[in-house]
Amino acid sequence: MRVSSQVAPEEVIHEVRQFVRAELIGRQTDLDTSREIPFPIHEKFRGIGLANWWLPEDLGGRGLGLEQGVDIVSELAYGDAGVAFTAFISVLGTTMVSLYGGEDTRRAFLAPLAGRGGFCATLGSEQAAGSELARITTTATLDGDELVVSGEKFFSTNADFADFLVVIARRGEDHAEHVAVILPRDTPGIRMRRRWSMIGLRSSGTYQVSLDNCRVPAANALEGSGLRLLEIGLNASRVLIAATGVGVARCVRDLCMEYGRRKSLGGGKLAANQVFGAKLADMEMRISAMRDVCRTAAREFDAVMAGPDPAGAFLGHGTLKSAITAKMFCGQAGWAIAAAGSEMFGGLGYTDELMIGKLLRDMRHVSIIEGGDDVLRDLMYRRYVVPVAKRI
Ligand SMILES: Cc1cc2nc3c(=O)[nH]c(=O)nc-3n(C[C@H](O)[C@H](O)[C@H](O)COP(=O)(O)OP(=O)(O)OC[C@H]3O[C@@H](n4cnc5c(N)ncnc54)[C@H](O)[C@@H]3O)c2cc1C
Repeated sequence: MRVSSQVAPEEVIHEVRQFVRAELIGRQTDLDTSREIPFPIHEKFRGIGLANWWLPEDLGGRGLGLEQGVDIVSELAYGDAGVAFTAFISVLGTTMVSLYGGEDTRRAFLAPLAGRGGFCATLGSEQAAGSELARITTTATLDGDELVVSGEKFFSTNADFADFLVVIARRGEDHAEHVAVILPRDTPGIRMRRRWSMIGLRSSGTYQVSLDNCRVPAANALEGSGLRLLEIGLNASRVLIAATGVGVARCVRDLCMEYGRRKSLGGGKLAANQVFGAKLADMEMRISAMRDVCRTAAREFDAVMAGPDPAGAFLGHGTLKSAITAKMFCGQAGWAIAAAGSEMFGGLGYTDELMIGKLLRDMRHVSIIEGGDDVLRDLMYRRYVVPVAKRI
């Protein structure tokens, strides 16, 4: 059934749960081992009207807020974190285009994405620069009324099958300046060098990409510093990465409960054991706190988006403290849950026989991508601890 545009938030979540039950539950091991990107599943998600659910209504999208996105992603990731990741990571690039592309650019790139339910990829990371993005070497050089983009990008999710790529580059004319440029996927010179074999999120696709003299109209450059725009887009995607951790953690908890009810111990069942109960209570506490930090961050993001000048306001804010808090907290709390969960199954928890191994591997990415915890600690310290006025 297609979710109509005027339905209540709880009905949207109900639809997503039904979708997850029908399309993902029971197929997780296949999704993990086959390493295929399950396009038919994404097509069915588009069929219920929720592909790219955040795209603005004036462009034909659903216009759902990030707070609702937290619950949608938690449900999808309960089914499969890789499917969730593929479905939401376009939010990073599209947020930049939506806020900092001119009206013609927004219409040209986002309206088709809203209509067809396609994908967008963001290309920031480079091998040598690592998380020091100011050191990237990809360039975008003006040539008449075109930009010529060249460089090597180390990781980019969805790049192979995206409708367009948002590339972060240095300005060829002034290496101190950075820019974000839109490259339609069929631009000559874009080459996938390889698809990475990841230990988790295996139903998603992340690629190493070469850009060789890719020519696009100069109007494809977004307005503002590419690095600042990336920071702003990351506010949305980091919160949804954190929400993926919530979904995976909920799945770990339910798997442990099922096991506890089956496993015999001391003449009864493991689920009746107090030590087991205490561990599950800790999991529940962490899951509640994880969901709360995600919702708090999402509400702050949504409030800025609902203001009179979100593009200007975000240029002032840059990275939201609540977004990095959500990602760091969910990565760490989620890892504690996945680790406790994997111990719960004894030796079987260390085999490929049970889904807990997949969940452990899937959970790992939350603390690594879009700024590993050390990078975010450093950011938090410099921006929100050193300046006394920013402390709570
Ligand atoms: C599944 C997956 C999907 C991805 N998708 C994309 C994508 O779509 N687009 C994209 O651009 N990138 C993507 N990436 C890249 C990802 O965002 C980076 O890998 C991640 O941010 C970590 O950066 P890095 O690999 O450069 O490692 P680094 O950050 O360089 O880390 C290497 C080591 O240096 C340490 N370190 C780095 N900085 C500091 C610091 N300031 N203080 C202390 N220690 C530090 C780290 O702790 C770590 O030990 C993806 C990666 C993965 C795994």
